[in-house]
Amino acid sequence: MEHIVKIINVEILTHDVKKFVLEKPKNYTFKAGQATTVSINKDNWKDKKRPFSFTSLNSDAYLEFIIKTYTDHNGVTNKLRSLKEQDELIITESWGAINYKGSGYFIAGGAGITPFIAIFRDLYHENKLKGNVLFYSNKTESDIILKNELSKMLKDDFINLITDEKSANYINQFIDKDFLKNHINDFSKNFYICGPPKMTEDINIALKDLGANTESLIF
Ligand SMILES: Cc1cc2nc3c(=O)[nH]c(=O)nc-3n(C[C@H](O)[C@H](O)[C@H](O)COP(=O)(O)OP(=O)(O)OC[C@H]3O[C@@H](n4cnc5c(N)ncnc54)[C@H](O)[C@@H]3O)c2cc1C
Repeated sequence: MEHIVKIINVEILTHDVKKFVLEKPKNYTFKAGQATTVSINKDNWKDKKRPFSFTSLNSDAYLEFIIKTYTDHNGVTNKLRSLKEQDELIITESWGAINYKGSGYFIAGGAGITPFIAIFRDLYHENKLKGNVLFYSNKTESDIILKNELSKMLKDDFINLITDEKSANYINQFIDKDFLKNHINDFSKNFYICGPPKMTEDINIALKDLGANTESLIF
């Protein structure tokens, strides 16, 4: 079933990431980590459907998405950049994506943090976040989404990696098998991975080699 939802607020989070707050349809429900299919309610855009993860909680009276926008071609996220309050999106029911099964290690690349934001907000709200560790990899410091909120929620269990610039404040390397061996002491815990295809696939293979069970989502 499709729902037309109005944009209530748009906020710039980074140079290419925006937060969209939307009306929530009556009786609409979802779980932290789930996604829905979104299109823009304008001529020539209605049938261009893309998946996005909820970053609000089911208990909130609104819906929130955090969306990385690609300006290199005229796709949906580029069009989303121009939308304002009162413009409308079309969403379907909530579905699939990442299912939280218990505490463990979260590994995110760029906008791959979005399903984890919902899970962390949910656990933080319930006072159950302790025991989870986030490794968050970005190209540059300016790409880190919601750094302050993630730091507040996860404290020392929030580990940032920056791959395309040197910075003394961050780990400057890609997440590979050696990195995982050096930074993880219990491979029997839950592993949740979400990021671009190559990163997600490579880390999945490395973790499986190290004996871990993973749940992953390719963006
Ligand atoms: C379950 C799930 C949940 C997701 N949740 C989120 C979320 O919460 N937030 C978020 O930001 N993203 C999320 N994504 C990713 C998001 O769906 C994509 O970024 C989005 O679909 C891109 O749409 P688009 O039309 O702008 O780009 P598309 O046209 O679909 O292209 C996507 C990629 O291909 C490249 N590309 C394609 N065509 C061209 C071209 N002609 N020239 C140059 N480059 C090109 C783009 O640069 C981009 O990297 C999720 C994905 C999945 C599978």
